[in-house]
Amino acid sequence: ADYFPAPGRNHLFVPGPTNIPDKVIQAMARNNEDHRSPAFPTLSKTCLEDVKKLFATEKGHAFIFPSTGTGGWESALTNTLSPGDKIVSFRVGQFSLLWIDQMQRLNFDVDVVDSEWGAGANLDVLQSKLASDHGHKIKAVCVVHNETSTGVTNSIAKVREILDRNRHPALLLVDGVSSIGAIPFKFDEWRVDVALTGSQKALSLPTGLAVVCASPKALEAAKHAKSTRVFFDWGDYLKFFENGTYWPYTPSIQLLYGLRAALDILFQEGLDQVYERHHRLAEGTRRAVAAWGLKLATKDPQWKSNTVTAVMVPPGFDSGEVVKVAWKKYNLSLGVGLNNVKGKLFRIGHLGSLNEVSILGALAGVEMTLRDVGINVTPGSGVAAAVEYFRSTTPMIKSRL
Ligand code: PLP
Repeated sequence: ADYFPAPGRNHLFVPGPTNIPDKVIQAMARNNEDHRSPAFPTLSKTCLEDVKKLFATEKGHAFIFPSTGTGGWESALTNTLSPGDKIVSFRVGQFSLLWIDQMQRLNFDVDVVDSEWGAGANLDVLQSKLASDHGHKIKAVCVVHNETSTGVTNSIAKVREILDRNRHPALLLVDGVSSIGAIPFKFDEWRVDVALTGSQKALSLPTGLAVVCASPKALEAAKHAKSTRVFFDWGDYLKFFENGTYWPYTPSIQLLYGLRAALDILFQEGLDQVYERHHRLAEGTRRAVAAWGLKLATKDPQWKSNTVTAVMVPPGFDSGEVVKVAWKKYNLSLGVGLNNVKGKLFRIGHLGSLNEVSILGALAGVEMTLRDVGINVTPGSGVAAAVEYFRSTTPMIKSRL
């Protein structure tokens, strides 16, 4: 049932779940099949091999769990660490907050570095913590690459540089839920130990897969890590990987067919082009925000995110009202402000299967909504800024040349 029918398509601009391409929907519209048949491992193998391209890794081992990003977090932590192990992590928004909460509930000793929401991870504090950790008590540094609640992208390259500068052996665990597949991610180059994403973000699939990548060092750590783990145990997955049947329990068959189609679509466009498109859509959106005279939640350009733009509403306005009116009047779905930034910002998600004209629809919808709630932006101003930026930067479509 469509509980709240509306004419036209829903314009889905939350930063995940994202829009699913028709080809992916078609690939998933199929019966169940025997995942122990001789045919199924062929699909499993290509998915496990090809997802590694999104991480830019040859050395890493990929795991695909029937789960979500939150399960990916748990998999990363419990396979590599033991209860009581010291972790340094950065609380810069709602998702880093939730990951830290999970770390604490799993009985790790978390040294939390807080930043004002809208800022990125405080790397000066990381430097001083690592420099004074002579006994190497810190076992892991955990970073959310792209904090989806505030539109903040942290530099993983810089985190690696600080670890190296201090010759510190801590594992580097990275949440790439709203970055991997949309913002360049360099697992091997940055020597990340575990990175993870969820299927409903840049992959433009339904929710239901956690994709986790582990370095050889992380796989080695897993041999000694004492955290209790069952569903997410890499050991079970590796056993079935080695015997060529891949799955210790029933995989999500339709989602794997969807994943295959989603990867094909991304590779056809070319990953570099995918990253450039995300940059372009984000930059057009940022220019629209500037033309409206509004501010980004992101406190410094070094952290601007190419997958989500968080827009501050002026004092005295409620961003929740913007999101509500957009949905009720224009069938446009925007992201709300979460927790500390509730009521203060709304978010335009621009990741996954999207193009310039789709974004312009969203920007026009936001513009109308802002005026509806009394935020007096000039009609057409944001759209015009984005139009001119897109016109001058959008390449011809490769397959149509
Ligand atoms: N990490 C980040 C950066 C996210 O944006 C999200 C969800 O939006 C999560 C983790 C949690 O993922 P999931 O909702 O798939 O469990």
